[in-house]
Amino acid sequence: MTDREADGRGASETGDPLLLTPGPLTTSASVKRAMLHDWGSRDRTFLEMNERVLARIAGMANATATHACVPMQGSGTFAVEAMIGTMVPRDGKLLVLVNGAYGTRAARICARIGRAVATLETPEDTPPDLAALERRLAEDQAITHVLAVQCETTSGILNPVEEIATLVADAGRALLIDAMSAFGALPLDAGEVPFQALAASSNKCLEGVPGLGFVLCERGALAAAAGNAPSLALDLADQQAVLEKTGQYRFTPPIHVIAALDQAIAEHAAEGGVTGRGARYAENCQVLVDGMRTRGFETLLPDELQAPIIVTFRMPADPAFDFTRFYDGLAARGYLIYPGKLTVAESFRIGCIGRLARADMEGALAAVDAVLAEMGVTSVAA
Ligand SMILES: *Cc1c(COP(=O)(O)O)cnc(C)c1O
Repeated sequence: MTDREADGRGASETGDPLLLTPGPLTTSASVKRAMLHDWGSRDRTFLEMNERVLARIAGMANATATHACVPMQGSGTFAVEAMIGTMVPRDGKLLVLVNGAYGTRAARICARIGRAVATLETPEDTPPDLAALERRLAEDQAITHVLAVQCETTSGILNPVEEIATLVADAGRALLIDAMSAFGALPLDAGEVPFQALAASSNKCLEGVPGLGFVLCERGALAAAAGNAPSLALDLADQQAVLEKTGQYRFTPPIHVIAALDQAIAEHAAEGGVTGRGARYAENCQVLVDGMRTRGFETLLPDELQAPIIVTFRMPADPAFDFTRFYDGLAARGYLIYPGKLTVAESFRIGCIGRLARADMEGALAAVDAVLAEMGVTSVAA
């Protein structure tokens, strides 16, 4: 898989630094090589590739019979905005379960496009309050939709989408899921977890390159949503209507991104699909968390709330620990980490996803030791 060079430096198959980030992330050489061609956007070769990609994505969520997989050009946020604008009707109201920056962003999108929105917030280290959700749905009959984030990448917390889905369905409301940082690695079965729409993207656990989002939309709800969207470009109903009729995109598709995703999905299947991908990430996460704890670092989250996607560590209190030097020292050794995004505590994050395996996480831990020694840090307690 990836390699440590002779000097212990972390490097991808193509010699680049390893991205221990939540995406864009380290991709395989074969995924990058899949982009070394040109395709016509209306040519059969591309259209077949596109169809295959969308069908296999729907299959990963066991959603083929019930949901259309609608692609959306752009980063993941474009898909989230398209999902909200298309699925929440003009007289609808969205309740967003917020415990991090991505929930907050979804609520901002909804307010910006002029849809009624409410939030139910819990702290960044706390899953949504299900009893409060049930009460809110009983009290506010105007709420038509609920949006939940499966893995809140802000902290790395795993939110209980299965329980949320049951509760929302029992209350007769529709569920939208931001599954961006979990899709392809954490299971979510449309036959078991009722959702109206689910958004994710090419460049996270599917290990493709950035540029394509997609939304799994319940077919009936999508057809009924024609004319809802306040945006032409971000109208999933229109996108799907044209794709179904012509097989083609309305506007230029990110062809190379889709070619890379086709290869990435073949590699996902070869690894054992969602189960295999999830198992590798779980091992990466375990090696990382165990290794960092052995060194004295503290995780924000207890193990039972930690998704195997990205881990938040509390900033060491030792004045000798300087985050910029820590970051630069790790980068010089081929490991790019991520700053914290918490509002509650000083922190930094290390990702477990992408073309990374145990040896890469062990290499990162060795680099942490070297950088701490260089800074003269003796304790990493928060
Ligand atoms: C990455 C991510 C997004 C989308 O972010 P982009 O930068 O637009 O790709 C949305 N939600 C979650 C939970 C994410 O992790």
